[in-house]
Amino acid sequence: MTTTSSRQTEKGSLAVLRRLLPFLLPYKRQFLLAGIALVMAAGATLAIPYAFKQMIDLGFGGAGTSSRDHIDLYFIALFGVACVLALATAARFYMVSWLGERVTADLRSAVYRHVVMQSPQFFETTQTGEVLSRLTTDTTLIQSLVGTSISMALRNALLFAGGLTMLFVTSIKLSSIILVLLAVVVLPIVFFGRRVRRLSRDSQDRVADASAMAGEILNAMPTVQAFTHEAEESRRFGASVEQAFRTAMQRIRARSLLTVVAILLVFGAIVFVLWLGAHAVIRGSMTGGELGQFILYAAIVAGAIGALSEVLGEAQRAAGAAERLLELLSVESPIQSAANPRPLPPRAANGAAVSLKNVTFHYPSRPQYASLSGLSLDIQPGETVAIVGPSGAGKTTLFQLLLRFYDPQQGAILLDGVDIRQLDLGTLRNAIGVVPQETVIFSANAIDNIRYGRADASDEEVIAAAKMAAAHEFIERLPEGYRSFLGERGVRLSGGQRQRIAIARALLKNPPLLLLDEATSALDAESERLVQGALEAAMMGRTTLVIAHRLATVQSADRIIVMEHGHIVETGTHASLVARGGLYASLAALQFSPGMATG
Ligand code: ADP
Repeated sequence: MTTTSSRQTEKGSLAVLRRLLPFLLPYKRQFLLAGIALVMAAGATLAIPYAFKQMIDLGFGGAGTSSRDHIDLYFIALFGVACVLALATAARFYMVSWLGERVTADLRSAVYRHVVMQSPQFFETTQTGEVLSRLTTDTTLIQSLVGTSISMALRNALLFAGGLTMLFVTSIKLSSIILVLLAVVVLPIVFFGRRVRRLSRDSQDRVADASAMAGEILNAMPTVQAFTHEAEESRRFGASVEQAFRTAMQRIRARSLLTVVAILLVFGAIVFVLWLGAHAVIRGSMTGGELGQFILYAAIVAGAIGALSEVLGEAQRAAGAAERLLELLSVESPIQSAANPRPLPPRAANGAAVSLKNVTFHYPSRPQYASLSGLSLDIQPGETVAIVGPSGAGKTTLFQLLLRFYDPQQGAILLDGVDIRQLDLGTLRNAIGVVPQETVIFSANAIDNIRYGRADASDEEVIAAAKMAAAHEFIERLPEGYRSFLGERGVRLSGGQRQRIAIARALLKNPPLLLLDEATSALDAESERLVQGALEAAMMGRTTLVIAHRLATVQSADRIIVMEHGHIVETGTHASLVARGGLYASLAALQFSPGMATG
């Protein structure tokens, strides 16, 4: 962190923390309870030196018959104070920790809920790792703020004020001396302590660097080994670990020095004041009990100052964390549901009508380059339209706009005659099924993976969809059938099997509009046949847009659209376009199977 930014954080810290209030306000009652426990504990702490003094002066010092009664009484009182202290401290710890955990849990959920609502534009500029670290590290900092720092600050502020008052009540002269001594002793310790904490943060950062590096490399082991970079990577990691060690040693050296200085100074000051006090006792201007009481209050005040300075440092760190989290929470997705969404007209039996009117779009990160320009297209309900074009023509972009991951800068997209910007996002996306090129398989069993298409589908519906998608047989043959675990730590599926899972998902959703991005990777003949059959089942009774890579697909499409540089350059059927001998004919010769040119 640079000096300027840390100064900014310091300056803005209070304001930022105030913006966390909405997360704290629901728990007013708990805060009140914690506050009561806190005040009681501080009161008990402050009562102890006084009880001590009474014990010494009246119990030990006082002569005569009453001394035994007194001593019993004061020991009972002292124990009573200890009981209050114990209960109140435990109650404070319980309430305050509860608050810390509760607020952190709320904050984590709120940030996650907010992040998953963001449009793809957000994820283009924000790395997942960063979001994760905000969800974990930053929220943990706030947890320590709410769960400890605030109560530490209040407790020590009370102890400081109370202790200081009692010091002056006990002895104005000694108090004035000790105030000066405290300033001389505590300030350098506080200053030095800050340095140690900064160093310890540095050393944590270095360890984080090393483990980030290790994480990246371990995820890429096959590449590392194929290039025989093992020794090099070990050396790099070793260097990074050494760096962490050196930073840690800096902290340890500073800390050792701090220990020597702190103990010497604090004890020096105590011994000095004790010496002054002892003389006062000898002179008779002070009782032994008063001296004892004085020393204890001085210790309380000194401890409070130290703790307060520590809390201040933590509060600043938490303020930085809060700032980052609130920043994340205040990001507004550019894609929002319409405020007063219009309903879709009743669904036609054979699918949805789609219409693009003069759509021009550039990605936010590339304002100069129109990925789609002036695109117009009308698709009838039930029609199957194949989209063909060289890589970069804008085919995928068209799908992204239909799903409203982005809004076009010009023109409009209509679903069943309604501008999709006037629909609720959920309504729009529920009306669209997507079969992507690369199917995401979640770490869950087969039945839940297909159920991702429609969360409330029954097992029977899932199995029916799997059957239509030609996925039933291979799933049945898995070790535990539909209960087999798929994904990262489960069964690895072949490309064709993954596609059929994706098709089953889309079938389960049963949308009026299907967006299909055919896989480019070649499948073996058997898989190809199964996938083709599944796709035909999926297209039945709905409007389909397909980014086509297969001859069979373009041949069976009602219409083929050829795109290039964000424009539609040709439209027709396979036969008419081949006959025309334009872009499609040359693409088809390259892209589809060798028999293509003739058939
Ligand atoms: P296709 O699917 O036909 O291969 P795309 O729709 O993916 O083409 O891409 C169309 C154009 O938009 C290309 O020039 C591509 O580089 C650009 N593009 C695609 N995605 C993004 C993005 N997220 N940000 C910026 N430019 C993009």
